[in-house]
Amino acid sequence: MTPPLIELKDVTRYYGSGDTEVRALDGVSLTIETGEFVAIVGQSGSGKSTLMNMLGCLDRPTTGVYSIRGQNVSDLDPDGLAALRRQTFGFIFQRYNLLASVTASENVEIPAVYAGLKLSERREKAASLLAKLGLGERIYHKPGQLSGGQQQRVAVARALVNDAEVILADEPTGALDSGSSNDLLNLLEELHASGRTIILITHDQKVAARAKRVIEIRDGKIVSDSGNHQAAAEEVPQYRYDRKGPSALAQVVESVKMAFRSLRANLFRTALTLLGVVIGVSAVVAMLAIGEGSRADVMARFESMGPNLLFVRPGAPGTRMRGGAIATLTLEDAQALGELENILAAVPSRSTNATLRNGGKDYSSSIEGVSETWHIAQNRDMLYGTFFEKEDVDRRMGVVVLGTTTAGNLFDDIETAVGQYVFLGGAPFEVAGVLESKGATSWGQDQDDVALIPITTGMMRLFGQSYLSSITIAVDDTERIAETEAAAHALLLARHGTEDFQIRNTASILASVEETQNSFSILLGSVAAISLLVGGIGVMNIMLVSVSERTREIGVRMATGARRSDILTQFIVESLVVGGLGGIAGVAIGFGIVFILAQSGMSVAVTPLPAILAFSSALGTGLVFGLLPARQASRLDPVAALASE
Ligand code: ADP
Ligand code: MG
Repeated sequence: MTPPLIELKDVTRYYGSGDTEVRALDGVSLTIETGEFVAIVGQSGSGKSTLMNMLGCLDRPTTGVYSIRGQNVSDLDPDGLAALRRQTFGFIFQRYNLLASVTASENVEIPAVYAGLKLSERREKAASLLAKLGLGERIYHKPGQLSGGQQQRVAVARALVNDAEVILADEPTGALDSGSSNDLLNLLEELHASGRTIILITHDQKVAARAKRVIEIRDGKIVSDSGNHQAAAEEVPQYRYDRKGPSALAQVVESVKMAFRSLRANLFRTALTLLGVVIGVSAVVAMLAIGEGSRADVMARFESMGPNLLFVRPGAPGTRMRGGAIATLTLEDAQALGELENILAAVPSRSTNATLRNGGKDYSSSIEGVSETWHIAQNRDMLYGTFFEKEDVDRRMGVVVLGTTTAGNLFDDIETAVGQYVFLGGAPFEVAGVLESKGATSWGQDQDDVALIPITTGMMRLFGQSYLSSITIAVDDTERIAETEAAAHALLLARHGTEDFQIRNTASILASVEETQNSFSILLGSVAAISLLVGGIGVMNIMLVSVSERTREIGVRMATGARRSDILTQFIVESLVVGGLGGIAGVAIGFGIVFILAQSGMSVAVTPLPAILAFSSALGTGLVFGLLPARQASRLDPVAALASE
């Protein structure tokens, strides 16, 4: 003999304990066979809904055994129960429990989603069911646009979409007028005639009279049972779905769609939630582009100096130069340094701003007093003429080498400048040559706006001082630059008797620039992290609100076969979508800001890494801060969730 479809043995369900204990079901034993049409009647509070939740596997007995086709329900885990709900039962509730934000068709499709049916199949199925129930014209209406009777018919279609064997209806006519109520009962009779098992719960004797068997319940006990008077129906051929439910991919695709739908339903709230993430991400993208731009600038500036230079400045280490006023470096120091091993040139230098004059033309430029080895250290070639010679320096000659900008401002045709005289500080200087143009530095200083004269001449006629503002040493073999630096240091220390100078090399300057940039990056990173944290808390907050607002929806989904993992996935995906949207918007806005800054002449460097990082952190934020609300949603008790307002 095949075991009965439904068998309850001495089932109890108690709520609370001690004095407040309520025996909602108190020793119920009951057998229902396939194909029966059973009405369970009783007054309000008699335990009908508790019994129905028990039968539908939304709830478990406190004591006693509930078996479905001989399978003890207590032996099933939550996923097994979900599978049972999905495949065996179709629920119809008094309050319809449709999702308000989606169409009739989509409501009907929900159980089929969890059963893993493909979109086209379930859409077709929903359409044909709705058409059969007289709602062919209302497929794309939302519940709010339907009457109570129509909504209940949508709920019936939903109960049927997975070809449920057993229809569980809890006071399905409770909210309907008598006409719609009669229609619904006719519908249930038809379903019964087609071989389905119907369990109808009602407090109305007239409604109960439509069933083939009436069981009366009072205070959690069965007080009468008209008994099963029909021959056991033949097993209805059933199309069975995969017990495992939808594939992970289908689950995610569905969740993404649902996420967009629920976010769209709360557009303004979603936008506000996104704002935190958007600000964080766009700040990272924009600030890092600016930081990277300025870093590239500074680097280019130092790299253009070449890696083989040492800079000697007056003043003890740690003191800042104030306008070159510290008088410790002399021309003799430069000469002595020049005689050290591994040194190409030791160029003394001092500069001032002065006006050059040629006929009617005046031009104020930076006048640098240097030695004849300057062009070697700076690696500069001549456009016209030659650089001045050692002899010019030794004899304090009035010669000048012009940058192209300076030359262009003094001569109509700079080709003709060589050999002509310009006046500087009232004395004539012969133009020895014009430097090849080097253009502006990346921070905008024109490197051709110079005039170079022998340092000795400058000291005598222009600077009014015989101290240097710097000595630039060009090292021959850069491998040995540290050794050379040490030798230069030792030499100057011996000459001065005290450390009233400082020597730096390009590498150490680069290192300190790098260090500054790194702390800048850390600062930016913390700003970004904080705004993402704030954004994340916003996401979590909104997800928690969403879970509590949609408790009933979660209950409906669970009743129609959603597993815990389905609910978990849905809410995680939803908060990932929030994070992802925030990330995309943030990256777009960040790039927008960068673009505007670039247009306004600021140097920015756009690299993909910050954008990718910021976007991923936005996604990560969504994930991390969505976990808790999602877990909370998936742990909801289906009965309690369904009962929530
Ligand atoms: P019916 O559906 O027949 O109106 P219920 O099954 O909803 O009755 O309730 C049966 C009894 O169990 C009632 O006395 C009710 O107060 C109690 N009850 C139902 N659900 C709970 C619950 N979650 N906690 C405490 N008591 C409950
Ligand atoms: Mg009830």
